[in-house]
Amino acid sequence: MPARIILRQLFKTGIISEPPPAPDPTLAVNAHALNEEILRIFGRAVGVRHVDAGSCNACELEIHAMNGPHYNIEGAGVKFVASPRHADVLLVTGPVSAHLATALRRTFEATPDPKWVVAVGDCAATGGPFGESYACRGRVANVIPVDVVVPGCPPEPKRILAGILTAVRTAPAHRQAPASP
Ligand code: SF4
Repeated sequence: MPARIILRQLFKTGIISEPPPAPDPTLAVNAHALNEEILRIFGRAVGVRHVDAGSCNACELEIHAMNGPHYNIEGAGVKFVASPRHADVLLVTGPVSAHLATALRRTFEATPDPKWVVAVGDCAATGGPFGESYACRGRVANVIPVDVVVPGCPPEPKRILAGILTAVRTAPAHRQAPASP
C-alpha cells in the first residue's frame, strides 16, 4: 500500500487509543531517603540476587517492574547482581521444585555471610497451590533459612522492595557503616 494512502488513512482516523493513565504518586519511592538509610546501614549499595526456584513467572514480572526506571531502586542503593558471590540478599520466588532444591541450597551456600533471604510470593511463603509433593519441596523455608516473607500472588513491586528493606534493617552491628564525623 503506498505511503500516501496510509498517511491519508492515519489523518482521517486520528488517535483512537485511550490516553495514558495519570501518574500515581503513591507508587513513587522516595529514592533519596532510601539511599540515605541503606548507606547508613551498609556504607554501600545492597546486592540482591534473584533465584527462581519454580515460579509461574508472575512474581518475576513484578520484580522486573520493581527494577524498572519508575522505582529507581539503583538510585536508592538496591542493585541486582549476577552472582550470589556478590549478593547480600537472596530474593527467592516460587515453590521450590524438586529439581531446583539442590541449586537453591548451593546458591545459598555460595552467598557470603552475613546474608538474608527474602521469600517473595505466596508460593515461596507457603508452597501456595503447589504445596508439597514428589515434585515439589513447597515453601522456601523447607530448603533454606528465610528471614523475610513477602506474601501476595504476586506481590506488587513496592511490597517486594519493602521486604528487601525489612531484611536490610535487620543488618547485624558489624555491617553498620561507621558513624559520619
Ligand atoms: S505466588 Fe502466585 S504469582 Fe508468584 S509464583 Fe506463586 S502462583 Fe505465581
